[in-house]
Amino acid sequence: AGAEMVPVEDLVVEAMDRCRQQAAFKHITIASGGTDDLSVWGNRAQLAAALGNLVENAVNYSPPHTRVAISGSRVPVQGGDIVEIAVTDQGIGIPEMDRERVFERFYRVDPARSRATGGTGLGLAIVKHVAASHGGEVQVWSAEGQGSTFTLRLPEPGSARERHLAARSKRERLGGTLHEPA
Ligand code: ATP
Ligand code: MG
Repeated sequence: AGAEMVPVEDLVVEAMDRCRQQAAFKHITIASGGTDDLSVWGNRAQLAAALGNLVENAVNYSPPHTRVAISGSRVPVQGGDIVEIAVTDQGIGIPEMDRERVFERFYRVDPARSRATGGTGLGLAIVKHVAASHGGEVQVWSAEGQGSTFTLRLPEPGSARERHLAARSKRERLGGTLHEPA
C-alpha cells in the first residue's frame, strides 16, 4: 500500500519528535548527520515506525547524559547502492547470546531491568518486518555496557537492486506471467 519516495531526513525528524520528551527527561542528546539528499522508496508510515523504534530503543536502553547518533550513508554494493541509516547509542548494550533473538516478537533481554520502559518486545520485530518488506535488512552491533548500533539498510531508489525488486513485486502482482524486458 502507498509507496512513495521518502527523504531520510523526514524519517529522522519524525523519529526525533517521537523521542523528544523521553530524551529531554534523561538529558540524552540526539544528533543526526549524513542524511542530505538520501531517499528511500516505500511506505512512509512503516519506514517512520521502523526508524522511530530504533531511536526509541536507543533512548530507553541508555543511561542519562549519553548521546544517540543517527547517521545516513550510501554504501556501494554489487548490483546497486544501499542506503544505510545507523542508530548508535552509549547504552547498556546487548549480550552476545541475545543479539539474534532481540528481533523475535516479545523477546526482551531482561524483562525485570527493562520493565520501567513498559515495552512489549515488538519494536524490533516490526523493524525487521519493515526492512524485509522493503527489500532491506536490519543488523546489530553491540558491546555490553558500552552501547549498540542498529543499522537499517534499504535499497537505494533507482539502483539496479531496487529495480530488480520492483520488477519482481510487479511480476508477483501479475501472477508471475510477466517477463521482464531485457
Ligand atoms: P517495545 O519496543 O515493543 O515497546 P521493547 O523495547 O522491549 O518493547 P524491542 O524494541 O523489540 O522491544 O527490543 C527487544 C529487546 O532488545 C529490548 O527489551 C531490550 O532488551 C533489547 N534492546 C533493544 N534495543 C536495545 C538497545 N539499543 N540497547 C540495549 N538493548 C536493546
Ligand atoms: Mg522497543
